[in-house]
Amino acid sequence: MRALMQQRELNVSDIIRFAARYHTAARVTTRRADGSTVAYTYPQIEARAARLTKALRRRGIAPGTRLGTLAWNDHRHLEIYYGLAGLGAICHTINPRLFPAQIAYIIADAADAMLFVDPLEMAVAEAIGPALKAAGVRTLVVLGEDADVPDTPLKAELEVISYESLIGAETPVLDWPRFDENEAVSLCYTSGTTGQPKGVLYSHRAIVLHSYSTNLPDFFGLRSVDVAMPVVPMFHVNGWGVPYSAPLVGASLVLPGPRPQAAALCDLITDHAVTWSAAVPTVWLGVLEHLRATRPAFAAPLRIVVGGAACPAHLAAAFHDEFGITVNHAWGMTETTPCGLYNQRKVENKNLPQAEWLALQRRQGRPTFGVETRVMGAEGTDVPADGASPGELLIRGPWIASGYFKGSANDAAFTADGWFRTGDMVTEDASGYVEIVDRAKDLIKSGGEWISSITLENIACGHPDVQEAVVIAAQHRKWDERPLLLVVPRPGHAIDKAALLDWYLGKVAKWWIPDDVVVVDALPHTATGKLQKTEVRKQFADYILK
Ligand code: ADP
Repeated sequence: MRALMQQRELNVSDIIRFAARYHTAARVTTRRADGSTVAYTYPQIEARAARLTKALRRRGIAPGTRLGTLAWNDHRHLEIYYGLAGLGAICHTINPRLFPAQIAYIIADAADAMLFVDPLEMAVAEAIGPALKAAGVRTLVVLGEDADVPDTPLKAELEVISYESLIGAETPVLDWPRFDENEAVSLCYTSGTTGQPKGVLYSHRAIVLHSYSTNLPDFFGLRSVDVAMPVVPMFHVNGWGVPYSAPLVGASLVLPGPRPQAAALCDLITDHAVTWSAAVPTVWLGVLEHLRATRPAFAAPLRIVVGGAACPAHLAAAFHDEFGITVNHAWGMTETTPCGLYNQRKVENKNLPQAEWLALQRRQGRPTFGVETRVMGAEGTDVPADGASPGELLIRGPWIASGYFKGSANDAAFTADGWFRTGDMVTEDASGYVEIVDRAKDLIKSGGEWISSITLENIACGHPDVQEAVVIAAQHRKWDERPLLLVVPRPGHAIDKAALLDWYLGKVAKWWIPDDVVVVDALPHTATGKLQKTEVRKQFADYILK
């Protein structure tokens, strides 16, 4: 028997309409490039997004058209998220720190008709130059006023206008059109560590359900009284969905603007009473050092999410013990919208003393409702959930990709029976907590046995002299591959290599201990702040251990 419920499609524009109607006192605060801030209400953001929808419609942008962004976390990028959703167009966020050739490839693959560019990233667009026109881009919109539009050679190729002039003439009221919830609303490319970047095309339905799910109390748990600061860039998998999940509950947003540094983030936290924030571990390592140096008084209790790369155990402990900041560990991927696992207590460990719980922060977490996991062993069968047997993590659910944009139907990442193969090697325990052992391609294979680079990195990061560490496989004459540790010392500290290797004793099997330590001034990072292991591997490709 069919039920008697309204068939109201899940649409992304409903989120901003909801926030504008019921959460008028919340604020969306942006830090500009010069350090000043500007605040809007949700009704203002909705009105500006509506003007963008109308301006694009007037220019003949049809539903389904891809429009690219080279932009940071600010109110205009937020308006683009919603303004394009209101038109049925697709918001294609692009990471400005990729190589120009990769950006050109992505823009051509997506066939973006227009490009929205932060004034600070004009050089990126210029580096691509004529390839933009060849890819089909007709208009470049500089995210600012007319005065922010620079004198650029791109004007010979394209129409170059300011965002404010684009939306300026439109009236702010829009009867937001309805879309089939399975229509696409945004597009994001994987980083291309395993070949050319691949496009992941998100639906209205996936985004809305993902936002509901991440707002559950055992996940991000945002509330209307929260002030959420997504440091994770809005070009990194929809800013982990926070530009959607915060307005979905009417929480205020603090958007840290272009290329934010630790000092600016700490100022924003104190000045705007931020209660919740999310970023990759490298960002938090920098913030921790800054907090230690400045010891600011927080205006409100703060919870932070560490994700995108493994959260070193000492990081969670330091934030908690030294500053009373709650840390949670999250896991996700471009293909999973991105949130899938979250490390939060449950009934069987709720009374565990805090110190013991913090030691378990290295686990990436357990699935939230809507996400199902499988751990597949080498023979294609499930491995036991014993917290020790490794296998590849497979995942399925309504916000997990079913294929790549323009991809082939038989891509090996998607199984015939509906699972997505993550490429992450994990263990799962009896309570459903998943721990990433490594990315399949980062595992070190020593004499046929594997060694987890993540585990070795975590241990090194726990050493008081170490600021940051990476472990890669170096070629070895006998064992094929052996772990090589590269470390950046903490400011004012020196690294004693022998002592650092001794630090591993009793923490891992002896044969896991790295063969050598290289001290470096800095390590390469992606635009999203993750360690760029491919780059490190390239630099040390000829490093042969005896
Ligand atoms: P990329 O890292 O290639 O830019 P994604 O942002 O989609 O692409 O990254 C997804 C990958 O990041 C996962 O497959 C996993 O290897 C890694 N990752 C994400 N979160 C965590 C985490 N909390 N701990 C360890 N690895 C993580």
